[in-house]
Amino acid sequence: MVIINNVSKKYEIKKEKYTALDNISLKLPIKGLVFLTGESGAGKSTLLNLIGALDNNYDGEIIVDGVNISNMKENEIAYYRQTYIGFVFQQFNLIPELTVYDNIKLTSDLIYDNDEELLKVCELLKIKKLKDKKINELSGGEQQRVAIARALIKKPKILLCDEPTGMLDNENSKLIFEIFKEISNETLVLVATHNTELASEYSKKIIELKKGKVLKSFNVDQIDVYEKIKFSKNKSLKFDTISKISISWFKIRYKRLLAISLILLILFTSVFISFSFIFRNDNDIIINSLYKNDIDYVTYYKEYYYENSNNVPHVENIGMNDDDLKYLSSNLSSFDGDIIYDYFVCNYSNMQNQESLPLIINNNIDFFSDKNNGIAIIDYDFINKYNMVLYGNLPKTIDEIVITKYIFEHYKILGYKGIEDKDINNYEDLLGESISLYDEYLGIDKHVKIVGILDTLLDYDKYNEMSMQYKNRDLFKIQWENILNYSFHNIVYVNYNFINELRPNSIDKQFNYKTSSGQGYYFGMKKISNIKEKIYYVSDENISNGVVLPLSLSKTNKIYENANTLVDLYAKENFENIKNEFIVDNPGKDTWESYSFYIRDSIENKYDREFNYQYFWDQAALDYCNDYSKRIKSFNILPRKNELNPFEEIEVQVIGFIDESDPYEKIYASDELFSKVFKVMHDEKNEYKYIVNSLTKNYKKDITNISILQEKVYESNLLTHKGNNEYTIYKTTNEVIATFNAINNYLELVSYFIVIFSLCLLIIVLFLIIYHYSNIVVEKTKNIGILYSLGISKFDITKIFLLQLLFISTAVCIVSLLLEFICFGLLNNYSYDIFNISIYIFKSNLVIPLILYIIFLVFGVLIIYGVVKKHNKKSPINSILKLI
Ligand code: ADP
Repeated sequence: MVIINNVSKKYEIKKEKYTALDNISLKLPIKGLVFLTGESGAGKSTLLNLIGALDNNYDGEIIVDGVNISNMKENEIAYYRQTYIGFVFQQFNLIPELTVYDNIKLTSDLIYDNDEELLKVCELLKIKKLKDKKINELSGGEQQRVAIARALIKKPKILLCDEPTGMLDNENSKLIFEIFKEISNETLVLVATHNTELASEYSKKIIELKKGKVLKSFNVDQIDVYEKIKFSKNKSLKFDTISKISISWFKIRYKRLLAISLILLILFTSVFISFSFIFRNDNDIIINSLYKNDIDYVTYYKEYYYENSNNVPHVENIGMNDDDLKYLSSNLSSFDGDIIYDYFVCNYSNMQNQESLPLIINNNIDFFSDKNNGIAIIDYDFINKYNMVLYGNLPKTIDEIVITKYIFEHYKILGYKGIEDKDINNYEDLLGESISLYDEYLGIDKHVKIVGILDTLLDYDKYNEMSMQYKNRDLFKIQWENILNYSFHNIVYVNYNFINELRPNSIDKQFNYKTSSGQGYYFGMKKISNIKEKIYYVSDENISNGVVLPLSLSKTNKIYENANTLVDLYAKENFENIKNEFIVDNPGKDTWESYSFYIRDSIENKYDREFNYQYFWDQAALDYCNDYSKRIKSFNILPRKNELNPFEEIEVQVIGFIDESDPYEKIYASDELFSKVFKVMHDEKNEYKYIVNSLTKNYKKDITNISILQEKVYESNLLTHKGNNEYTIYKTTNEVIATFNAINNYLELVSYFIVIFSLCLLIIVLFLIIYHYSNIVVEKTKNIGILYSLGISKFDITKIFLLQLLFISTAVCIVSLLLEFICFGLLNNYSYDIFNISIYIFKSNLVIPLILYIIFLVFGVLIIYGVVKKHNKKSPINSILKLI
């Protein structure tokens, strides 16, 4: 039941108003065939449009089945058009890009799940054969029948037809009217026509309009019983219908779309590459590159960082000590480090023309060095671990050394200068020759013999050649500096004792002590392990804070007295056993007292060797010491660095005594206590310059080994408070790590540039997409209007464009990924040509592209939804007529 109350519709063209409908009121029955006649321009189409909710900009009200259709919400309008209204336009308004079948499917989709009904309608309208034809391949009459089929298939409650037979011959017109008549038993069929003759032939219900007014109407006597419209959820177009429209609309402005895709391709590719790099895993890259380059070691060293008062940063390698060694071995998953000691870092000696070393060798100043880098202990385990080759022998004494092939090359070029000068051509020429080593810190000049030459497997030719070329100079320097300064090649190798000899054995500074009974001071400290004299132990020798005190035992009469008593006791008891022998040697001396005097006066006791005088003296001394120690079991010593530093008290335990009468008494300490006191009293040198650890070739272990040490230490007694912001940090290095770090910074910069560039591209692309789709929506405004008029929702329209964007961005994304893979593959493979070391910098990452892809799609959805929404403000009829 349609009730039209005082409806007026005015059009405004160039500020002049035209009245298309002039305050008309009508009632239309719930079913029946009603004709709307009148001359052209009478307002017939306008009225149909208003009833079909294709335009809601009018005065008055139209109430369809109890609902004022001008007040419907957006989704209610779609539902109303979808289910209530079938509209046959005068101009057919078919979608030209689609086939007959697909055009009908636009409405069939909204009602049915299959094609059964569709085929029936085609049959009814005799267009079944035309099913797969494109619209522009049809005659006007055929198109008209398709348009009618599209409206009929919905079985709408109201069928609105605007000149439905205008293009049909009489026979076909009759067919259509028969159909209308048939369905008008159930439906309100409102047909606008100016064919009044045919109209009156088919129905008595005729409304005649003239100049927007009702000239003639019929009475709707009884009030129809109708069911109020029940709005429910809109149906969506099927995916294949949406995709067909989407695909067909690709053709519009395809060149621009291609350009957008191309920019998108550049955008995606550059973003993927740069983000893969920005979110790289450095340690993973390093480990893979190490494996790839067959490098089986990593060097650890400790760096001290501080900023001076002008905030200028300073970094120095401060070396390491036993604490660091302990730290490394407990923190690294596998640690079997070889230490390079910071001793005897000195000029190569005994070379001819040594002073001209830098100039002589083809100006090849970078490759050669004039100084070794420290010393290290060599043994067969070490040689085998790194598969090195030794010519000659291992050093057996502290006067023998092994030099490396790299150092040997220097002698080969410059010649050996000794008592006799000599050219060096092969290893034999140098083996057995002596050179001198000098250590500044220890102040020692040592003459040592070269007994072996170690081939450390340095790629000598590669780096020698690189050093002479001018290309890649900076990279060469970085790599070579690390090889030279943090590896095995420029080292003098010695045996274990050589190093041991270098360690400090005594402290010659005075330090205080405090006992319960008083205070005093000692004049120094020595290690117990280094003394050869007898110690009278009174408790466990292995106590870590144990000390041995000097005691003038030989000056203590009590010990003599006790020793004599012990001798007497012994002589008395044992004289009988040796009496005969003793009397033979000492005629007339047949008392045990004489035996006792004998023992006291002789060094040896020839009658019972074990029990000489020393034995009894020692017994007495030990008794004395035990007695003495009861008074001073433990006490505190107070070593200090200088007057400024606060005292640090260390509790020590007396474990024994040593007979010493030196007035400048020294105290003797366990090795551990000694190093503790030494550290307090001296600016102790960190004697390990760096530590080289071999790789395990077990990825998990190796990666934890290089990633574990990245914490900065802000609290340490190594911090000397030279400046602000100071910390120490363990560092790992070798030629691969250094090369990676060098290019890393550079690439990081480049990748940030790419990110900025990509951001600009992104903005451009988004604008282009907005521009493109706004444009497409305008170009396709008529088709979109038709779709709306059929009851297709805004979301389905959005989907049509979205599908395009989804397709483009997916395709572009895949191509970008491929490009990224290819680029990364090439870069990784050719990295050796560029860096002289294979660096596996690039690793494709699928997560980042996925995230970026999703972000892009979200933008796309928002843009397209916005564009469609903006367009939706127009009424469909205006879109169809392409009116603004
Ligand atoms: P009919 O269908 O009876 O031929 P219409 O409803 O199409 O008549 O037109 C009624 C009047 O409104 C005509 O004068 C026509 O020119 C005018 N009109 C219709 N649509 C528009 C429009 N979109 N803009 C301006 N005037 C219009």
